[in-house]
Amino acid sequence: MGNETHSWSRFQTQVIQPKNCTHCGVCVGLHPELLEFRETSSGPLPFLRRALTDAEDRSLALAWAVCSGRGVPYPDLLAYLNNGKPIDPLLGAYRQVFTGYAADPAIRQRGASGGVISRVLIHLLESGQIEGAVVLRQGLHSPETATPTIATSRAEILAAAQSVYAVTPTLTILPEIEAFPGRLAFVGLPEQVTALRMLQAAGHPAAQKVVFVAGPYTGTNMYTGAVRAFCGCRG
Ligand SMILES: Cc1cc2nc3c(=O)[nH]c(=O)nc-3n(C[C@H](O)[C@H](O)[C@H](O)COP(=O)(O)OP(=O)(O)OC[C@H]3O[C@@H](n4cnc5c(N)ncnc54)[C@H](O)[C@@H]3O)c2cc1C
Repeated sequence: MGNETHSWSRFQTQVIQPKNCTHCGVCVGLHPELLEFRETSSGPLPFLRRALTDAEDRSLALAWAVCSGRGVPYPDLLAYLNNGKPIDPLLGAYRQVFTGYAADPAIRQRGASGGVISRVLIHLLESGQIEGAVVLRQGLHSPETATPTIATSRAEILAAAQSVYAVTPTLTILPEIEAFPGRLAFVGLPEQVTALRMLQAAGHPAAQKVVFVAGPYTGTNMYTGAVRAFCGCRG
């Protein structure tokens, strides 16, 4: 077997070195014992915790298969999500398109752009359609960083409202999803949702717990260096 067929070598040469990593977090989320994110000038990137055995290297095959940095087979993925029927890959499947905001003024004011996502999550939780929601919360452990977390109450959903403009590998939360006893909603950026959907298509048990996905419209995002430069911080 040549080196190129080894999973970690392929991550290095085809995704990380060419700067194609989307920082979605799925590789580390699937293998926290083998991989970890480290902050670099090109954003958070996966690194080996230690040298891998051949068997450990081969165990990265699913992470490689669903890696959103490799390019995504959107027509196949969308057809999978639409019960085999093809979908326009530019827009995806939709029934109707609306604009709106949360009717509850407190939620509307707390949200980034009207609070629709937070309101929908609260509705799903309080109507018993989910037991928790994967959200990204700024300042949970330190003011500068955001942490993916499973919110199980209205207060926790609202604490994670608004936009996090800091590249955060949200799918590192996969082990917590795996351990969570119930159905989940998942809020994620396009690359995170893509990797999650790829995992669902692959039949991964933790990913099957996600029964609702919300995606904030995403134009741009920032590495830590940009935020620190804006704040005038060093390091
Ligand atoms: C990285 C990024 C780029 C954006 N770019 C644009 C833009 O170019 N133009 C524009 O008009 N709007 C942009 N937005 C805003 C976005 O469209 C609004 O957040 C969205 O409309 C949802 O508004 P809301 O009030 O319903 O959400 P809220 O009720 O405030 O809920 C937002 C939810 O998204 C989650 N979340 C926030 N940030 C992230 C993140 N980085 N990764 C995963 N989950 C997250 C929160 O935890 C929360 O659950 C951006 C947001 C983000 C996070």
